[in-house]
Amino acid sequence: MTSPDSASTATVRDGGVPDIAANLAEVQGRLAAAAAEAGRDPAEVTLVAVGKTFGGERMIPALEAGQRVFGENRVQEAEDKWPALRETYPDISLHLIGPLQSNKVRKAIEVFDVIETVDRPKLARALARTMDEMGKRPGCFIQVNTGAEDQKAGVLPDAADAFIAQCRDDFQLPVLGLMCIPPVDEEPSLHFQLLAEIAKRNGLSGLSMGMSGDFEIAAQFGATHVRVGSAIFGARTKPTL
Ligand SMILES: *Cc1c(COP(=O)(O)O)cnc(C)c1O
Repeated sequence: MTSPDSASTATVRDGGVPDIAANLAEVQGRLAAAAAEAGRDPAEVTLVAVGKTFGGERMIPALEAGQRVFGENRVQEAEDKWPALRETYPDISLHLIGPLQSNKVRKAIEVFDVIETVDRPKLARALARTMDEMGKRPGCFIQVNTGAEDQKAGVLPDAADAFIAQCRDDFQLPVLGLMCIPPVDEEPSLHFQLLAEIAKRNGLSGLSMGMSGDFEIAAQFGATHVRVGSAIFGARTKPTL
């Protein structure tokens, strides 16, 4: 159902495969410019390249271009895709950015370097216990449901301070910061600002926020990690969950 003019042609090669290296360079340039414009050091903002739904072969141009931080939203998909790539590119850092079920905690700790979606006590407890057992401690972000959307994961803003304290003090999780996914139909900056405020009053420096459509705004509001998929790898045609 694509009309002839609906797809950008500037970054798409013959055959409809996007020019991933060119897209990546463009996103990095825009990200650095947005950070600099906000008076920030561009090196403070890490680009997390989101590869979900695409196979490992589509990651290779990004890897060859030097990209090392990637995001996936499903544990099983990451397990299928990344171990083989890690053999060639051992310094990859892989972030889980999708919901985590308690029964997949062990696998998630095995596969991921950072878990961005800690959002409830049961999960936090399971992560803490399993990290102790495994002797591996991926950094954690706490997901905040800044728009208080029923269908979205994340701790509610009102409950965030208590949950952050619980994760750090009771469960001793290595909490790096906060993560949010703003409602699609709202001004993202309000949500980025809210997330930044909650992080600041809790003494957290990490802020994972901003996607293909709004990563420059996120950088202006203090993002330390932006999660960008389609602007790099092209439009997704498969469902993501
Ligand atoms: C898919 C996804 C992204 C990337 O979305 P794009 O709009 O393709 O950049 C970022 N964050 C989360 C949590 C996602 O699921």
